[in-house]
Amino acid sequence: MSVKVTINHDECTSCGLCYNDECPDVFEEGEEGLSSLKSDFRKGGPTDGEIPDDKKGCAQNAADACPVSAITVG
Ligand code: SF4
Repeated sequence: MSVKVTINHDECTSCGLCYNDECPDVFEEGEEGLSSLKSDFRKGGPTDGEIPDDKKGCAQNAADACPVSAITVG
């Protein structure tokens, strides 16, 4: 099973919380500090993709911690 993840670059403030602290297994620093999915998980671009079930908790922690709710999991 896999879980859909999206990042809204219109909202992301490049704070780094998701890729530096909460879930570096799934997210990485992209252009201009914007959050991007690691390449293994992308489906077409850096902001849309799918992650395996065992990464869902980590990605959800990042979504919960994101100060502007830019990450959607599931
Ligand atoms: S935690 Fe949110 S605002 Fe901060 S880099 Fe990640 S997606 Fe962007």
